[in-house]
Amino acid sequence: MQFRFDFARFDFEPWRAALSGLVEGARTLPRRLPFDQLVKSMISGRTKDAVSARSYLRLRARFPTGASLAGAAPGDVERLIARVTFPEVKAAHVVDAARRVGQAWPDYDLSRLSGMPPEARLEWLERLPGVGRKVAASTLNASTLRLPVYIVDTHVWRVMRRTGVVPANAAARDVSMFVTESMPDWDGETFTLFHVAVKRLGQTLCRDAEPLCGLCPLAADCATARARGGVRSARRLPRARGPWRR
Ligand code: SF4
Repeated sequence: MQFRFDFARFDFEPWRAALSGLVEGARTLPRRLPFDQLVKSMISGRTKDAVSARSYLRLRARFPTGASLAGAAPGDVERLIARVTFPEVKAAHVVDAARRVGQAWPDYDLSRLSGMPPEARLEWLERLPGVGRKVAASTLNASTLRLPVYIVDTHVWRVMRRTGVVPANAAARDVSMFVTESMPDWDGETFTLFHVAVKRLGQTLCRDAEPLCGLCPLAADCATARARGGVRSARRLPRARGPWRR
């Protein structure tokens, strides 16, 4: 996969192995069709997983197809997803995005994206209203498409920056590019499970308020752990080029 920037690479395989215990149950999670995953991801930002999951089920029970969602009144969608954050904005975006997908492909079959070059399919999705890199990557990777691109949510973003494997000012989009570029031999399933593992690490040990570095399997590779407790580095971290500045 070729991106616009030239990054140094980092071998995430030892991290994947170290965090393998955190993917319990993730291998059997159901995968949605890419349009359905797009809708689910669009309403999930900054919302607890259980809340967004229930909201998504309510939404799709009322509007089960892409065409029905494209024809919905945004206010009706807003009422169905009222428990997620920013429901009014997300409802408008979901309806508008559904209309635009339907104009491009009336059967709402986003599996066509797999025939595009990697960056082009991400950019196609990001032209939809309310769709950034995280939603685009989720649509391509966490759906039945299983394409190899790394999903970076707020938990993953925090872990990656705290470890120092990316600079503290690295944008989430750049982190996604960096991990994806670093592991060209990983398949989509491996990227999905690595996302789940790092996300769960961020939800449990590397929490926003206070990281529990003494319990963390990544402590030997982590700049924050070294700064807080004198853990010795096991590996040299990469020097990033491209858009990042140290
Ligand atoms: S060692 Fe600490 S800061 Fe580093 S990833 Fe683990 S919990 Fe987060």
